[in-house]
Amino acid sequence: MEERARSCLLRSKDTLEQDIKASYLMDHMISDGVLTTDEEDRVLSKPTRREQAAALLEVLLRKDNRAYISFYNALVRESYGDLANLLHNDLPQLSPEGEKSFSNGVSSLVQLILSEGGVPQRPMVFVNRPALLNQVREKLYQLQKVVGWVTVFGMAGSGKSVLAAEAVRDHSLIKECFPDGVHWLSVGQCERAELLVRMQSLCFRLEQNQTVDSTPRPPNSIEEAKERLRFLMLRKFPRALLILDDVWDSSSLRAFDIQCRVLLTTRNRSLTDSVSGQKESVPVESGLDEEKALEILALYVNAQLHSLPEQAHCIVKECKGSPLVVSLIGALLREFPDRWGYYLRQLQRKQFQRIRKSSSYDYEALDQAMDASLQVLNDEHRELYKDLSVLEKDVKVPAKVLSVLWDLELEEVEDVLQEFVNKSLLFRDCNQRPYMYFLHDLQLDFLTEQNRSQLAELHGKVVRQYQQAYAKGPPTSADVEGLYWYRFLPHHIARAGLSKELYSLMFSLDWVKNKAQIMGSAHLINDYVEHGAILDQENSEVRLQFQEFLSLNGHQLEQRPFPDLVQLALSQPHCSEVYRQALLQAKERASRG
Ligand code: ADP
Repeated sequence: MEERARSCLLRSKDTLEQDIKASYLMDHMISDGVLTTDEEDRVLSKPTRREQAAALLEVLLRKDNRAYISFYNALVRESYGDLANLLHNDLPQLSPEGEKSFSNGVSSLVQLILSEGGVPQRPMVFVNRPALLNQVREKLYQLQKVVGWVTVFGMAGSGKSVLAAEAVRDHSLIKECFPDGVHWLSVGQCERAELLVRMQSLCFRLEQNQTVDSTPRPPNSIEEAKERLRFLMLRKFPRALLILDDVWDSSSLRAFDIQCRVLLTTRNRSLTDSVSGQKESVPVESGLDEEKALEILALYVNAQLHSLPEQAHCIVKECKGSPLVVSLIGALLREFPDRWGYYLRQLQRKQFQRIRKSSSYDYEALDQAMDASLQVLNDEHRELYKDLSVLEKDVKVPAKVLSVLWDLELEEVEDVLQEFVNKSLLFRDCNQRPYMYFLHDLQLDFLTEQNRSQLAELHGKVVRQYQQAYAKGPPTSADVEGLYWYRFLPHHIARAGLSKELYSLMFSLDWVKNKAQIMGSAHLINDYVEHGAILDQENSEVRLQFQEFLSLNGHQLEQRPFPDLVQLALSQPHCSEVYRQALLQAKERASRG
């Protein structure tokens, strides 16, 4: 029912209650099809005329515009002319437009249902994500006839809650699938006692809506609350939707395993494994595309998209379009419109604590939002996750590399990675075989920032584990883990500050031969340039000799079959370390015959 009509009924309630005889009016309303006989019985079960009038008004207030009009007409027909006059000015339009009377694409009926159910409003700055929204709505339509679960999952701040609330802001969806209401419950990371309080408040809300005189006492335990909810949902709100926002653990979820319709948002995609019934899920991408993210910034600072400064593009790129980060920065820029450069620098320097804004979001700053995900891992897995701080941005690793790093069986590693993926702490590229795993830039930034003082040690661990795993000989084939090691081993050694290991690796013709065979010469040359400063402390001439050898023979090293590298090296000047090692190897070969 439109707000105007509801308000009029509420204002006139006392007068109406004093005068009307509900039983007369209800006959008309039943024949108009706006009242059921069950509702009539409930009203008539009240002992006095006045109580019956009050009960009818209570039922009416939860109905739509048609019911208001039918009630008005009934008053006219039953000669309550004065009372009808009270309602006349606020009679709603009954065209389809009137019934829908949309604001933001939502009818007043839906607006009422959503606000009664505690569904949060749109954020002040909002951009639509139509493809995702359609996916969630499609899954919700599947709950039209059967009970079940729809999981919206993704990493911290990816916009899951905003999306869930937006999905139900839809007139047809509510009318066709959830006419008995939509109830939002913020679950979050909570202890059992807190969960009970939340369940109690949900019971209270559902019981409020009933035309009963006395509200029962709140349930005393989670089990009791679960039973109470089961009963309420089954008997009173069979076609209602429960939205559980930000659920972290399966024990909380099991408290709602009561055979009803549930939409839940979580970072943990496998949460519904522990509950029964039909299950569907929608992954939420961690970032918005560039245009949408820029749109958020533009809306915050009240500017046109094309007039945004260059730094706006850099901010979006830096955080990969994270809705949370873009909105946090947008909200800050609204107050300090000249700080584009400053916030970009903070983001680049990973000063997440500075990107802080008190808002309706549960976490004030990005670091808190990220940290919350880590806190739910057990100690052992948190330590393993910390090891990922040594990964490079945008680099994907196969599980086998981590099996070396963690010294665990491949299957065990895959299980751990699966848990990280499920908790939206890690991403998996399933388009490649074997699967490749990678961190979102923000997660990596957060990890490196959090473990800043231990980074050298962590890189050292990679090197040690590599040396132990390949003690009998380096990786030989060009399979994915071999590629990883040839590409990143020097980097890990350098970052661990192990200069001696770096010299002995990079001033070795064997390393050059193996790496060139797998990756060609360009990467190798790049290694000598990148780590030039460290290598030069040992011997800048030798570094140049290796670099020159590679530059001169680059084209040969790309050829297949791979040329005899020792032969090539023998053509180097005799004073060169490359020549010295080649000569040794040639002699060895000769002695072996
Ligand atoms: P999650 O539930 O995934 O942690 P939220 O849905 O709470 O993330 O979104 C985090 C913040 O990102 C919100 O407070 C809001 O400011 C911003 N945000 C998310 N989605 C949108 C959107 N579609 N338009 C504008 N801002 C959004």
